[in-house]
Amino acid sequence: MKRIAIIGGGISGLSAAYEIEQRRKQGADIDYVLYEASNRLGGVLVTEQVEGCLIEAGPDSFLSEKPAATDLCRELGIGDQIIGSNDSERKTYILVNNRLIAMPDGLMFLVPTRILPTLFSPLFSVATKLRMAKELFHPPHASILEDETVAALVERHYGREMVERLADPLLSGVYGGEADQLSVRAVLPRFADMEAKYGSLGRAMLAARKNAAPSVSAPRPIFSSLRGGMQSLVAAIAPRLTPLNLRIGLPIREVQRREYGWLVNTDAGGSSFDAVVMAVPTQSAALLLRNSVPVLAQELAEIRYSSSVTVGLVYDETIEAALPPGFGFLVPRTEGKRMLACTFVHNKFPHRAPANRCILRCFLGGSRDEAVLDLSDAEILSIVRRELDDILGVDAEPLAARVYKWRGAMAQYGVGHLDRLERIRQILQETPRLTLAGNGYSGIGVPDCVRTGREAAKQMLGYLGYPILA
Ligand SMILES: Cc1cc2nc3c(=O)[nH]c(=O)nc-3n(C[C@H](O)[C@H](O)[C@H](O)COP(=O)(O)OP(=O)(O)OC[C@H]3O[C@@H](n4cnc5c(N)ncnc54)[C@H](O)[C@@H]3O)c2cc1C
Repeated sequence: MKRIAIIGGGISGLSAAYEIEQRRKQGADIDYVLYEASNRLGGVLVTEQVEGCLIEAGPDSFLSEKPAATDLCRELGIGDQIIGSNDSERKTYILVNNRLIAMPDGLMFLVPTRILPTLFSPLFSVATKLRMAKELFHPPHASILEDETVAALVERHYGREMVERLADPLLSGVYGGEADQLSVRAVLPRFADMEAKYGSLGRAMLAARKNAAPSVSAPRPIFSSLRGGMQSLVAAIAPRLTPLNLRIGLPIREVQRREYGWLVNTDAGGSSFDAVVMAVPTQSAALLLRNSVPVLAQELAEIRYSSSVTVGLVYDETIEAALPPGFGFLVPRTEGKRMLACTFVHNKFPHRAPANRCILRCFLGGSRDEAVLDLSDAEILSIVRRELDDILGVDAEPLAARVYKWRGAMAQYGVGHLDRLERIRQILQETPRLTLAGNGYSGIGVPDCVRTGREAAKQMLGYLGYPILA
């Protein structure tokens, strides 16, 4: 019987374990052990019940258009618990000169596709609006061959204001990263392709909309989540795994190459495996592989991570009057605040709060403010409350507050990331029986992690001679 070690019990590692367990149930003579350093499974997926409200400490949802998470939920029998975001209320604001300004209708990520709402929006200066009109005549650009930052591409099309007011806050919301650092080809590959083909991003978006097949069904909500919170995904996978195969609270210290495969070392001793799935952040993977595959470790160590802090605040319904309708707001760096974003959770997912409660979820940290991680919870709360007062005029005492710190949890795909992935792929080809999963490679979201986890398991099963099933 062959044995596979899975290192890391976040959603990536759990998805890999689930895949192998399924194969076992179908009769494959295969064994696995999943190692998790902390004393719980799920990694950054953590949900808490507070004051009758559901607070997410890490991810609160996943993009509906990426099927891996939804498919897994259905396989696990929790498809009926999938809920959609309340898109009729979807409005997002940007803080400009300490005023919340709604993002105009028709913005697709940051490309304006409707003239009037953009023309009348106070979000952009006249100069930027003129740039937007001129952008429709932008000539094709051969960035398909080279990588560059998101900021460089956006600035070329729409100017610096668009980078500061939209691209940067949107990216810090998703990646905890900066438009001046993140790779356009890794983060917004569609934009680079559109530019190469059409020149103008505006014209490309309009063409894509025109060519899209008319939808007969109701539009899918943009975000999906689970009625009981994201941790219910973990709660649904864990009982399907064999308890004896889970080593929780046991960090791996090193992974050593052996002729037969790998020796996986913990403080309690080593275990031999035929194959290893590394489902930990790339920085941890680099440490574990530093002696056995130093060239790989070096590439992995160069993928940077940022940290984030989320703060969940529960209020009674009286603060509702102070909130504009919508999902929340983003804070550009130029506003000089520490808060990066705030979600009005009771609007985005009304199931998460009773009618007499409001939940605000605030984000801090990111690659520009790692220092916030070193503050105490009380200091972070006081910053958040002061800034909520400044921005929304909400100075009420919350009924409950929770601060969650996630150090080094968000991978940052810098310029050249895709080339690095190609080098990693080549090294792995020469290092059989080892594979990688997680948010450091081809997508940071939960569906990407589910996908990479399952693919990694399938790859190792295939390598060990277990037939690939459909
Ligand atoms: C605050 C926040 C908000 C987010 N919001 C969203 C969102 O709304 N939607 C979305 O799709 N995505 C979101 N993401 C991203 C997404 O949640 C993550 O990318 C994903 O959950 C990462 O899963 P993972 O299993 O790869 O890594 P992790 O969850 O980091 O799990 C890795 C696990 O490996 C363990 N480990 C590390 N080293 C070792 C070792 N040596 N030995 C054993 N175990 C080890 C760790 O303890 C950890 O449990 C968010 C992330 C954060 C932090």
